[in-house]
Parts: sequence; C-alpha cells; structure tokens
Amino acid sequence: MCSKDPSSPNSQLAAAALKGEPQACYRLACLCLEGALPPYGLDLALPLLERAAARGHAGAKKKLLELAATLRRIGVSQAESSSSLRELMHRAGEDGAAGQRLSSLRPGGDVRSVRRLELTANCYRSAAENGDATAQFALAHCFRLGMGVAPDAEACVYWFRQSAEQGLADGQCNTGWCYGTGYGVPLSYANAMHWYSLAEAQGHDLARRNHQAVRHIFARDLASSAISLAEERLAIAADHTIEVNRRKCCIYISKQYANYLDDDGTTSYRFHLCDCHTIRDMAARGRKYRYIATARDDGLFAVTPLRDRQRDTEAAREIPMRLCQHCRQLLQAQDMYEEPFSLRSFYAKHQPQLPDWEELEQYLVEPG
Ligand SMILES: [Zn+2]
Repeated sequence: MCSKDPSSPNSQLAAAALKGEPQACYRLACLCLEGALPPYGLDLALPLLERAAARGHAGAKKKLLELAATLRRIGVSQAESSSSLRELMHRAGEDGAAGQRLSSLRPGGDVRSVRRLELTANCYRSAAENGDATAQFALAHCFRLGMGVAPDAEACVYWFRQSAEQGLADGQCNTGWCYGTGYGVPLSYANAMHWYSLAEAQGHDLARRNHQAVRHIFARDLASSAISLAEERLAIAADHTIEVNRRKCCIYISKQYANYLDDDGTTSYRFHLCDCHTIRDMAARGRKYRYIATARDDGLFAVTPLRDRQRDTEAAREIPMRLCQHCRQLLQAQDMYEEPFSLRSFYAKHQPQLPDWEELEQYLVEPG
C-alpha cells in the first residue's frame, strides 16, 4: 500500500478523521497505537482519541482512561503530551498537508517512520520557537531521545530550560535533573535544587523526590570537601546547630595567618557547630563571609595559610581544631554535649539518618 495514495484505506480514514468523525478518529488512533507504542504512536493517537471522546465515542473514552494510567506511570501527563500535536493537527488541517501526513501512517512498525518523527520534531520546533512552553518541553525530549532529530544534550537542556523559565513545572523538574546529573550542563547541585524547588512549589511530586535526593547527595559532597558558605544556604536548627541543606555541619575560618598556625595539636583555632555568641557577633560585623562549612568529622580542618600582610596564600594544610566554648555551652543546654567531645559521635547521634548513597542515585529519577 502506497502511503501517498489518496485512495488508500488509511487516507480515506485520515480524511474522515480530519472531518472529526468519531469512529474514524478512534480507528485511526488504534492504528497509531498498534504495535509501536509510546512515544511515537501516542503523539498522534491522543488528539484523535480526545476528538472522538469529545463527540461521545465510548471506546475512545475507555482507551483514553487506559492511556492516562499508562502515561501517569511513565510520568507524562496526557495534556502535555498532546496539546502541541493538537496544534499540529489544527495547522496541518489548514494548510492541507494533514491528509498526506496522516495517510503516511500504517499499522505496525511503520508508525515509527523517520519521516513522521521529523515532522513531529519540526512541529514542536516551530511552536517552541514561537514560545509555546509545552512544545519547548516536547522538543527537549526529541533532542534527548533523538526523536526526529540527532540526539543533542545541550539542545535538550536549552529547551527544558526555556519551558522552565516560562513556569512549566515539568520543564523545571527536568532542568533540575539536567543540573543534578550534569546532563548537557556542568553539574551543579545548587542549580538543580533551585529548579526542583520551583517545580516542587507547584506540587510536582517527582521534583519533590529528586529535590530530596539531590539535597542528600549534596550533603555527602559536603562531608568529603569543604564548600564555601553562601549565607542563604545556611540555616539555624531549633537546637541552635548550624545546618546547610538540612545537614548539621561545622563552620570555621579557612584562611588563617600562617605564623599563628601550628600543627602539633595545641592550636587555639576553634570551629563552631552553633549560632553562638561569636558567630552572631561576626555576622553583626559583616564578617561571616570568612567562614566555610564542612561536615568532615575527624577533627581536622583544611585551611589555607596566609602570609602576613601580603595575604599571599601557602599550600592548604589540615590542622586540628577544637569546639568553640560558646558552642559547647549551647550544646550542653540542649543536652547534646558529651565529654570527650568527638564530631564523629556527635554526628552519629544527632544527624538525621541519611539513606544509602547508592540507593540515592536511584532516587534521582530520570524525567518522563
Ligand atoms: Zn561557637
């Protein structure tokens, strides 16, 4: 059967479907879905089924419910996967190309034909370039999956982000995923958390779970290397301890004058676990920027020695530090202090239980 032949059964069916005949829409949708399922067949089947269902076709209604359940499982909402295609059908109908496009559909594996995928991607692209957030999201998926276009991680991120900036929750979630996994962009947990939190605020469940996973992964990295402390990430827990992304940590000054440093364990330098008198005083004097956070628990702290006056830096080194006495008093008042004090047992006792790291990597679910 030649797909371009206007007298072919599928062409007649397509023509009837374009006129909106419910049974024709339903049958054509079933042909789309036969054999080759998502994402390709689905793209065209959904608007056809919706059209038939809107005209009261019981089979189409039932099919839509089944598909909605499937789509929910793979994380794509029905509306988002079909609205651009609805637009495509509308425009195709106007320019007369729809008959040709629909008649190229045949049952079985042909539904995945390269030509049709290119048409789909092109449609998404033109709508995306016109600022349609849903089409931008769909086009990003085309680039991610190599659907009708060559796979391109950077283009994928670009379009996810375009949709995210327009407030599309799925786009925000997936932009978060790109940053959280370093897909097409430099890995950035801060950016990942930013986009996840925006989607989460819109009630996006996957974003909420991924946000949580990234927060924990970030905390793991915090444990292995110090990060410079951006104030907005710092929080004070109800027990007065300092937390970064919900993980208790120490803060300390990392740049110390070299000639005050000794490494024989008798150092007078102190680290802090609480928003103690010293820390509040430093903050009031605008000197909090000197502190960095770490969740390292062996009692050693990485410092960058400064040569006096010139402020040149020497090679970083690790020195022991002791708990600040104001912090100790605060911890004693909370019944969180034990003699002899060890960070390892403090964290073990008072840190919220973190899940297994390998398991966490799995929590960072790929976007649908
Ligand atoms: Zn302190």
